[in-house]
Amino acid sequence: ERGDAVVIPTARATQLTMNREGIRRLAAEELGLPTSPYAFADSLAEVQAATDRIGFPCVIKPVMSSSGKGQSTVRSAEDLDAAWDYAMAGGRVNHGRVIVEGFVDFDYEITQLTVRAVGESGQVETSFCEPIGHLQEAGDYIESWQPQQMSAVALASARDVAEKVTTALGGRGIFGVELFLKGDDVFFSEVSPRPHDTGLVTLRTQRLSEFELHARAILGLPVDTTLTSPGASAVIYGGVEAKGIGFDGVAEALAVPETDLRLFGKPESFTRRRMGVAVSTAADVPTARDRAREAASKVRPVG
Ligand code: AMP
Repeated sequence: ERGDAVVIPTARATQLTMNREGIRRLAAEELGLPTSPYAFADSLAEVQAATDRIGFPCVIKPVMSSSGKGQSTVRSAEDLDAAWDYAMAGGRVNHGRVIVEGFVDFDYEITQLTVRAVGESGQVETSFCEPIGHLQEAGDYIESWQPQQMSAVALASARDVAEKVTTALGGRGIFGVELFLKGDDVFFSEVSPRPHDTGLVTLRTQRLSEFELHARAILGLPVDTTLTSPGASAVIYGGVEAKGIGFDGVAEALAVPETDLRLFGKPESFTRRRMGVAVSTAADVPTARDRAREAASKVRPVG
């Protein structure tokens, strides 16, 4: 309020993006961006009423959650009870509120990393990284790659949506805008006002990683979103329930060409906990994806 400190992300961006209701209403109702059909529900009865309108399949998620926690895809009315219970157990904060989304049968999904930084004009300008394609399993990212091939029309629409939503959130820094693509149609899904997990690939594909871009934007320094090589990332899951873990297979993984590892140093492993990531580059995305997957499969967290 005194104006002698700049807070990034802005309070508005934080408040709107930490809750699926805030960001969805901003995107769909204020900005008029295309999204899946949706409704909010506070009880199982309200969920049932929402599915009467939205139909099946649909995706049910706690309004405050990430990485697929509490999220399920429901194909028929018999599965609603279980989806409601799962959402109530899986939310980050139990508000007892869920979003019911119509299932978007997309061709592929991307993260459009979008940077708001001070440009040559002295004003905040928007710039874009090459689109990042990714694969999700049970709502959690398992592989990403850059660049994702897209038609010029789809890319222009994706960037238009990304610019509109990040401008509405304001402030400076990098944003991970998640979009679903069907043909040339773009559906806004959600946005992080910070580096994005699928953007770990930029540690090796860009001259400046998503973290460096974020820091530069915060510091008021010029940014450069140049891609230097196609690349891919693959997640290393825990695979075991153990404390005080180490890793087997690191040397074998690092023997894969143009490949690096980031092991996150988490003190405890769970079967489905993300413990690290392999990041590879190559002359083309399919080769980079093969390399990252191969390296990730060689690393085994051990108790
Ligand atoms: P979210 O936490 O909202 O990013 O969802 C995680 C992942 O679940 C997405 O990246 C998609 O792969 C999938 N997903 C979420 N919502 C939908 C939807 N309405 N239709 C189809 N897939 C979805």
